Amino acid sequence: MKLYNTLTKRVDEFTTNEEGKVKMYTCGPTVYHFAHIGNLRTYIMEDVLEKFLRYSGYDVTRVMNITDVGHLSSDGDTGEDKMLKGAKREHKTVLEIADFYRKAFFADCEKLNIKYPDIVEPATNCIPNFIEMVQTLLDKGYAYIADGNVYFDTSKVENYNCLTGHSSDELMVGVRDDVSEDMSKKNKSDFVLWFTKSKFDDQELKWESPWGIGYPGWHIECSAICMKHLGNKLDIHCGGVDNIFPHHTNEIAQSEAYTGEKWCNNWFHVHHLNDESGKMSKSKGDFLTVSLIESKGYDPLAYRFFCLQSHYRKPLTFSYEALDQAQATYNKLVRRVASLKRGESYDKDFVEGIKAKFIQSVGSDLNTALGITAIYDILKARVDDTSKLMALEDIDKVLSVGIVKKAMELQQSEKSEESKENTEQQVNIAPELKEKIEKMIIDRQEAKKAKDYSKADAIRNELKEMGVTLIDTKEGTTYKLD
Ligand code: AMP
Ligand code: ZN
Repeated sequence: MKLYNTLTKRVDEFTTNEEGKVKMYTCGPTVYHFAHIGNLRTYIMEDVLEKFLRYSGYDVTRVMNITDVGHLSSDGDTGEDKMLKGAKREHKTVLEIADFYRKAFFADCEKLNIKYPDIVEPATNCIPNFIEMVQTLLDKGYAYIADGNVYFDTSKVENYNCLTGHSSDELMVGVRDDVSEDMSKKNKSDFVLWFTKSKFDDQELKWESPWGIGYPGWHIECSAICMKHLGNKLDIHCGGVDNIFPHHTNEIAQSEAYTGEKWCNNWFHVHHLNDESGKMSKSKGDFLTVSLIESKGYDPLAYRFFCLQSHYRKPLTFSYEALDQAQATYNKLVRRVASLKRGESYDKDFVEGIKAKFIQSVGSDLNTALGITAIYDILKARVDDTSKLMALEDIDKVLSVGIVKKAMELQQSEKSEESKENTEQQVNIAPELKEKIEKMIIDRQEAKKAKDYSKADAIRNELKEMGVTLIDTKEGTTYKLD
């Protein structure tokens, strides 16, 4: 597979440390509120990436953290802890908030066909791991204590800006323009590994540490959780573009300082979903959640379909008109697939051919739009319906837009609607006629059993002339009046 790598700033051939195995880490949600559909764009694209790697034959282990402490409102070291903010807003404890929004996040993921990661780890489960890592960084001279907090000294690492390619000063503008500088830092880009400072006294969750009672910084959480489950070498690390700086930049600095070697080769970042007025946020206007779009009548999978139509490296603008369009296209595809009839045999070469082409096109920097085009190619192909259904099901292992499943449900509901109509009709037939039809159906069945097909056909034709059409189903023969 070829994939854009934020570290090399090129589309590279995707390589792993151990042949055939992928260790994948994705920054998980900060569970202080519902995820908005922008956050979920990132998780949808990461899900497609994971599934594509599996589809191409890799054995993937995916770890995701749950941020339930330490993520401050500035993404840096200032502002209020987001979890505390959520708890105050809802008059609940931080752990209640964390539990509620973690469940809500995974419920949204399920609706969007996002697979549950192999390992999900809340930060509050890993305090000893954070303390061990911070202590090692202090012992190695990469960290220092000032005013009670433990800071990472970014001047001690070479190439602190390897991920962004910009100088720290350039990056500080914008990220930090709303906050005052922390005077305890030796360098502007230094960041907190462990907080004990009195200004965070109202912090609800605090733990004993060698540096006093406090709590971990957001960045150390991801490095430590990743190493706890995946060891010192990682193949791919994922997140949204806003994670590049400072979060992932700091993760690289502290992880490589800790292990003394290169940590992660591939960095995958998804561009943002914006609304028409700009950046999507949880505090302004219509807070766009999966439940909100569902309440307006949209299928969450139509939103997934909408996301897959665009490349993950381009910002995407959300509008209800665009979602309407995606929903209409989605419905049309479901109806087309519902008209296909499944048989017993299929063309294996056709399905293999589709798979090979799909791997090639989607494998070119996760081109999901070409993946969607494959659905149309399959439907247009000159091949039997069963092969089409098999090929659609196969590529849906990656796309997970669920079109075949939805089509089957539609067929099923149309069938039960039809049989309801037939039953209603049959109630109104004169009892003598009903008895006659039922007897003829039994005679036909016996003729079929005796392999007297011409008799069976003759009975069917006779019934047809009487205005009765037979319907053969797995459960037996029924009929409707013409
Ligand atoms: P958070 O819960 O704030 O830590 O964010 C969860 C994930 O959503 C992170 O990987 C962010 O990079 C990503 N993210 C935040 N805003 C957006 C957006 N508007 N579009 C796409 N991804 C986003
Ligand atoms: Zn992270």
